[in-house]
Amino acid sequence: MLRNAPVSSGALPSPLDIVTPTSATPPTFLSTFLNDNPYFQAGFGLMALGVGLTALRQGVVIGTTTLRRRMLVTLEINNKDKAYEWFLAWMSHQNTLQTSKSRLLTPLTRSHQLSVETTVEQRKNGSSSALFKLVAGPGTHYVQYKGAWMQVKRERETRSMQLMSGIPWETVTLTTLSRDRRLFPELLTEARDLAMRGQEGKLVIHTAWGIEWRPFGQPRLKRPLQSVVLAPGLAENIEYDVKAFLDRRQWYADRGIPYRRGYLLHGPPGSGKTSFIQALAGNLSYDICLLNLSERGLADDKLFHLLSNAPERSFILIEDIDAAFNKRVQTSEDGYQSSITFSGFLNALDGVASGEERIIFMTTNHVEKLDSALIRPGRVDLIEKIDDATAEQATILFDRFYGEQGTQDSLVKEFSTTLSNIVKEEMANGRRVSMAALQGLFIRNEAGDAVTKCRDLFTPKPS
Ligand code: ADP
Repeated sequence: MLRNAPVSSGALPSPLDIVTPTSATPPTFLSTFLNDNPYFQAGFGLMALGVGLTALRQGVVIGTTTLRRRMLVTLEINNKDKAYEWFLAWMSHQNTLQTSKSRLLTPLTRSHQLSVETTVEQRKNGSSSALFKLVAGPGTHYVQYKGAWMQVKRERETRSMQLMSGIPWETVTLTTLSRDRRLFPELLTEARDLAMRGQEGKLVIHTAWGIEWRPFGQPRLKRPLQSVVLAPGLAENIEYDVKAFLDRRQWYADRGIPYRRGYLLHGPPGSGKTSFIQALAGNLSYDICLLNLSERGLADDKLFHLLSNAPERSFILIEDIDAAFNKRVQTSEDGYQSSITFSGFLNALDGVASGEERIIFMTTNHVEKLDSALIRPGRVDLIEKIDDATAEQATILFDRFYGEQGTQDSLVKEFSTTLSNIVKEEMANGRRVSMAALQGLFIRNEAGDAVTKCRDLFTPKPS
């Protein structure tokens, strides 16, 4: 009969029961130490915790980076790009209130890191003015644009600089939510439009920064061309020449002639040379690139680059060209000799034969001092003398100043006839007066007084 007979424990021992002293490892000192040492166990526990936490932290970092990548979008603008200035100006505009007295712009009232951009304007009469503009400084800022918050990080590279200009590299990084990425182009367009609006109807003057041209100061109001009173037909002649040149781009291209033209305006100081060039530029919606040949650090190669890379639609203006090259060596007022050579300057004027348009205006008070190599055709194509006031110019200027005031027309006519006679008489005696001097007289005096005092302004004509 079969029955479930308990297996005698004496037959086959259960594996659980078997303790085979031969197969067991004898407890070593190390295992005993490890098992019995509470300090070590605690240390091991802490280490495990540390590893766990590090992994967790890394996980969080990777997670947030991935999340940032997926959810945020960044836009980097560096200070080589035009949009850089536009953006900073736009940002400053967001929160700007102008206190007209101090001419201090106080923008970004919520931002705690600001930079100041100071523009100093030195006028010919020696006076100067400064305009301070506060813009977002290096650091992190926040702006809200069309309901979206953006982080703005402005960073400055302190170790390296832009090669030629010596300006440190800077970047502005905008970060916003990915879904708002479409706002970037809109914001940049708005910033550009704001910058353009600020220049509308205004004349922008650029100066050289290393090998670059940069806008200098605030754009100025354009001066009406008629406000510069020159001898009859003179202004029209220069204007006609410039316009004819601008209309003949294709003509030049067809003949392989470099598309450039040079003008030299000479005459005594205060006769309106600079004013006329600036008024003409404004009238044609051109900018002015003011080049100072005596500037320290300006060398032949930089000059060549500057003359070949002027901003589009701009006149290059080189003033007092006679002072710049003294016996073919270039010296500044303080006697400093810059590294520009006369031949380097001529080379730069000749430039590379490119299709780029280039218009250079040079002025001088002493045309006789100029080297004939400088004023040969191709370098200077039109030479015009802008002289001291004639009787006709003086009366036109007089009428501009007093004609629209309350003074009775007949009285103004009488004064202006007297003035005209005085100018004729003085000129016949070999004396002269500059338009700048007359302008100063008219600014300070009533019509009658101006006529009485005007004789004092005449000086002997230099031989
Ligand atoms: P220049 O370049 O010949 O030395 P500017 O153009 O600098 O002379 O003129 C100096 C000042 O005199 C300016 O403020 C300008 O308004 C005035 N001025 C000079 N000439 C004239 C002119 N022909 N018509 C009107 N204003 C003049």
